[in-house]
Amino acid sequence: MKGKLIIVSGPSGIGKDTIVSEYLKRNNAYKSVSCTSRPMREGDIPDKTYHFITKEEFEEKIKNGELLEYTIYNHNYYGTLKNTLDEKLNNGIDVIMIIEVEGEANIKKIYPDSVSIFLLPPSMDVLKERLIKRGNVSLEDIEDRLETAKKEIEVSTRYDYNIVNDDLNMAVEELEKIVQKEKTE
Ligand code: ADP
Ligand code: 5GP
Repeated sequence: MKGKLIIVSGPSGIGKDTIVSEYLKRNNAYKSVSCTSRPMREGDIPDKTYHFITKEEFEEKIKNGELLEYTIYNHNYYGTLKNTLDEKLNNGIDVIMIIEVEGEANIKKIYPDSVSIFLLPPSMDVLKERLIKRGNVSLEDIEDRLETAKKEIEVSTRYDYNIVNDDLNMAVEELEKIVQKEKTE
């Protein structure tokens, strides 16, 4: 049986990395590693969280057709390399990918059997608190991210599922239930 492709989206600071890390501790799945031209942040591990490359290297990959999809988010390139998903899926391994809304739309077209999940904040105030808690960003940057978040939340209804990330454990359990259900259908 083929693996399930699980797409997770949600605004910056909602808890995507936290939920997916917790999911991976409890379940067998491969996390897709994207390429990005953004600078490394605290906690990033090269080739684990992302393949960190320069803007020029990214543009070379676009030119050579090496990417399945890509986008510009917050002035930086992000994209998924071709082949990596199929290799895992064809070997029966579930693949989980954290991508933004444009990427989700593109991946859904290529992989209609994938399941897409959008993480919602309990409120915009909570989202702001989490962005502040994660640190490393200016107040201006936070306001920018909250504006982007509003636009992203508007398209969340087209996703297969929405999960409100209030209690972390409950959100992870909800994700587990969704994947189990999708795999038995
Ligand atoms: P994202 O990957 O969506 O940008 P992170 O996973 O980095 O978000 O989470 C942003 C911050 O919110 C982190 O400090 C994380 O510990 C915290 N966080 C995530 N989920 C919850 C939750 N359910 N309750 C409280 N704090 C949370
Ligand atoms: P961050 O800089 O916070 O790690 O990621 C910024 C945004 O880029 C997040 O919404 C994340 O989901 C998205 N993203 C990460 N990798 C990819 C990718 O390969 N393709 C697309 N379309 N978006 C991505």
